[in-house]
Amino acid sequence: MSIVYIDQSKKEYTKAQFIRYFEAKAQRTIRKYNMLEKGDKILVAMSGGKDSVATAHIFNKILSKRGEKLQALLIDEGIPGYRDLTIKDAKKFCKDENIELTIVSTKKEFKFGLMDALKKLKDNPCTICGTMRRYLLNKYAQKLKATKVATGHNLDDEAQTVLMNQYKGNVSLSSKLGPITGIVEHEKFIKRIKPLYFLTEKEVTIYTTLKGFQVNFIECPNAKDNFRSTIRDQLNDLEHRFAGTKNGLINSFIEQLPKLRKTKLNAILNCKSCSEPSTKDICTMCIILKKYDSKV
Ligand code: SF4
Repeated sequence: MSIVYIDQSKKEYTKAQFIRYFEAKAQRTIRKYNMLEKGDKILVAMSGGKDSVATAHIFNKILSKRGEKLQALLIDEGIPGYRDLTIKDAKKFCKDENIELTIVSTKKEFKFGLMDALKKLKDNPCTICGTMRRYLLNKYAQKLKATKVATGHNLDDEAQTVLMNQYKGNVSLSSKLGPITGIVEHEKFIKRIKPLYFLTEKEVTIYTTLKGFQVNFIECPNAKDNFRSTIRDQLNDLEHRFAGTKNGLINSFIEQLPKLRKTKLNAILNCKSCSEPSTKDICTMCIILKKYDSKV
């Protein structure tokens, strides 16, 4: 029998064993953090990439057994040569799995895509893109009557964010991280859950490949050489030389999280312009929209 994976403790896994291990670990995370409560309507933030596909598959498996339906939402920010490919994969995956997929285009919603915005606003692409995505994800989660939004964040993503916040002197921002977010309650803020939280990027890649999902492992062109990718390379190098580095980082972060969450966070208000949740009087999305309009 061929071995597809060897873990940190040198334990070997065949294909069937690895799939069992992966799904059991994600399901344990769902149970441990109460991610799926009675009456929950789960919406998966779909990109068509490996992480969102694995997340959707795991939730779809659980919900189908209960006779419930999973919904998925994809935000199309119009990155050429990237988003068009992931949309194709997302459509195929959702059709195969019988998941209802809603696609929201920023061009339709705001009258501009990321590339238009970048021509006018001299901002970091990920800052604008992240703001548009978070805004629309929450807005459409409400429209679709979702009670929780499942994202495909894996252990590597979280370890990178923890370090990025640390390096930038934004440690208090890390209190918003963790397997289940949305610690500050607000009727319009839909909680985020991360079932792949304790699974590494490598494990997600192996899982989606073994399952035969059509996933394009292409990276967003804006991800090259940004802060996150630099941290990612450093962490991968450390993990390669000192196995267990990423797990150690996340385990100690989880231990510290309750203390971090005692830090006073800004309350969530309603944006005075669009009424969506915001920590300021005017939300970041409305500020971007105003800046964009002023440059027309
Ligand atoms: S890497 Fe940046 S620009 Fe690309 S999809 Fe992610 S947030 Fe958007």
